[in-house]
Amino acid sequence: MSTRTVGIIGAGAAGTSAVKTLHTSEADVEIDLLARSGERPYNRTLVNKGVALGLLEPDQAALSVTDTRTSTDTVRSVNPQTREVHLASGKTRAYDALVIATGSRPRTLDETIIGRDQAVSAGQLTTLHSIADAVRVRNLLAGTHPTRVLILGGGLVASETASLLIEAGHDVALIARSLVPGATAIGEHVARRLLDLSQPQHATYLGRQPRAIRTHADRITIILDDGTHVEGDLAIVAHGTLAAAPAPWTGPEGIPVDGHLRALHAPRQRIYAAGGVAVHHYPGHSSYRIDHWEDSSAQGNHAARTLLHDLALADEPCRYLPASRFSARIHGHTFTGAGHPALGSTTRVVSTDPLLIVHHLGDIPVALTGIDSTRLVQDWIPHLHQQAILRY
Ligand SMILES: Cc1cc2nc3c(=O)[nH]c(=O)nc-3n(C[C@H](O)[C@H](O)[C@H](O)COP(=O)(O)OP(=O)(O)OC[C@H]3O[C@@H](n4cnc5c(N)ncnc54)[C@H](O)[C@@H]3O)c2cc1C
Repeated sequence: MSTRTVGIIGAGAAGTSAVKTLHTSEADVEIDLLARSGERPYNRTLVNKGVALGLLEPDQAALSVTDTRTSTDTVRSVNPQTREVHLASGKTRAYDALVIATGSRPRTLDETIIGRDQAVSAGQLTTLHSIADAVRVRNLLAGTHPTRVLILGGGLVASETASLLIEAGHDVALIARSLVPGATAIGEHVARRLLDLSQPQHATYLGRQPRAIRTHADRITIILDDGTHVEGDLAIVAHGTLAAAPAPWTGPEGIPVDGHLRALHAPRQRIYAAGGVAVHHYPGHSSYRIDHWEDSSAQGNHAARTLLHDLALADEPCRYLPASRFSARIHGHTFTGAGHPALGSTTRVVSTDPLLIVHHLGDIPVALTGIDSTRLVQDWIPHLHQQAILRY
């Protein structure tokens, strides 16, 4: 049998993990890794923890991919029928199997917010998702000390970034739509505990949204929907992410996949999606996406194993079920989660000190969240999805 070509789009957590799995398998495949034009692949988790704070240079966040043909040429579209991808340079590449691992893009502020575009143009309102964003934030932080940073959002990246900035001596105010930021993603119990940790550290404006933004030469004012004016030197939008994929999947919906990470709308075309771009369906639950580093790596590995099976080069892996860990250091404490808490409909407190919560869907434990309970989370991971594995 001739050597098969496997295209992998995206050289982040999922893409590099798929490359590693294919290399390790020693299967007779040629890997064609396609990264974004003009971009050196990097570890996105270091955007806020390293580069934005000036602790790392952008090159130090780079991911190394060895022994693999890597082209930096953004993929514009995929043609599942002809099994070809079309690149920004105008070139076309053919593949026998394709892993789409293009991750996500940041949600931005709603366009109806008056003054949004002017604040972005002035460099005083930014997302914190890419190395370019991190360099922008780093340069602004270097300008004034302490910098007054307004963080819009209440998820883990928002809380972690607030904590990092406080540690670095800056002033932070956090503005979140929810009264208990993060509750939807990690569950009310742990989100409340994180709120208790953060409230003594910085100003919080909860249950409020920006209505307008005023940009001045030296500062930015965010006007909230209750009329409050909050002033800062810089505002960071951390409102989570949307899937990012080439055509024909350019909408925010991402790429729906089956339990083995095969793209649902391209059956038998040997197209797989992994990481922040993939949309999963858990039995008995609506669709969901996971945007964490370890889980994206696990999905990249899984997609590669499924494609090796579909090329008749390996056995089929079992169904993919999310059980990877994710964590954030927040105000001197470690939040640790595993699986996907939003899948759960009920929670059970397993331990109060340290705090560990098990999230259940029906009688199936689907996720864990805790504070300063990394060991407990690790011990509990093997219990996740046990009944689901037997049933489906
Ligand atoms: C500031 C920040 C901090 C974070 N910290 C943590 C953390 O501490 N722990 C954690 O678990 N998670 C963290 N995350 C989330 C984590 O980084 C992501 O979940 C993870 O990187 C997703 O992996 P991925 O492979 O799906 O996407 P990515 O790692 O983003 O990789 C996707 C790659 O595809 C490339 N690409 C996109 N479109 C194209 C195209 N058309 N053609 C070619 N290439 C393309 C992109 O340039 C990128 O290199 C953080 C995210 C952010 C923004």
